[in-house]
Amino acid sequence: MWVKRDDLTGLGVGGNKARKLEFLCGEALQLGADCLVTVGAGQSNHCRMTAAAGARLGLETHLVLSGTAPDTLVGNQLLAHLFGAHLHFTGAPASHWGALEIARETLTEELAADGLRPHSIPIGGSTAVGALGYVAAFVEIMQQCEGLEFAPKSIVFTSSSGGTHAGLVAGRALWRSLGHAVPDVVAIGVAKGVVAGMPDVADLAAQTLALLGESGVVPADIEIDTRWLGDDYAVPSVAGDDAVRWAARHGGWVVDRTYSGKGLAGLLGNAADGRWGTDDDVVFIHTGGLPAVFAPGGLPS
Ligand SMILES: *Cc1c(COP(=O)(O)O)cnc(C)c1O
Repeated sequence: MWVKRDDLTGLGVGGNKARKLEFLCGEALQLGADCLVTVGAGQSNHCRMTAAAGARLGLETHLVLSGTAPDTLVGNQLLAHLFGAHLHFTGAPASHWGALEIARETLTEELAADGLRPHSIPIGGSTAVGALGYVAAFVEIMQQCEGLEFAPKSIVFTSSSGGTHAGLVAGRALWRSLGHAVPDVVAIGVAKGVVAGMPDVADLAAQTLALLGESGVVPADIEIDTRWLGDDYAVPSVAGDDAVRWAARHGGWVVDRTYSGKGLAGLLGNAADGRWGTDDDVVFIHTGGLPAVFAPGGLPS
């Protein structure tokens, strides 16, 4: 098992959203935007990293969040505030993605009416432009594996809004079309369903490839293992918590209870089911999630 440390991408203490934001912010600058708007659950890593990107680029950043304003900001919210973002609490429950997206659209319209030029980014930054970050990541991973002289059997990672998954699937189709052998891309799903109106992963992967003038995603390319979600998004699970402890005690690395812990539980569970032989190399993409560990209930006791 190899770990691709996308928790260490560097922007605003790291995580997978840096790769999407590289392209999403490029799009914002190209369109002449003067502020960023995005949306997520109360402890959204994507929102915190968008705030960091806004600070880097000198763009005012507005975050639409689930829940109500806490007395004390902690975890991702504290960092987002430190990065200078405006936090807008909607009161909506965390997994009411549809209501949150409507609140983002309303805020975007209000900012535009005030004379600003907002670049509005959907949940998780999972547009085709954002997913380009994980096309590049797929190629980077394959080249690093080549350098280390192994061919991975599978790439496993945590999936929620689907942009990471779509980008990896698009990257894999591109790599395959160039004549390379490709690993399985195995998404471990940690959120129920997708936002109404959001393209599904196969469509999003196809749209992402189309931006590069390519095609070739087939339905069989999409694999989502949903057995590790537990009761719901952001509700800790026994298997996820076991994976949090396993990572900590087998090498001193930290995964969180909402995302990377459940993703790792999926990898460990598939390994226990005999999916891979002892000679197989498997890459786990650590997508991040560290700040939420410092919010109440962030770690198992
Ligand atoms: C956003 C996120 C994911 C899921 O990525 P998507 O592209 O939204 O599916 C996984 N892990 C962490 C820590 C995240 O913040």
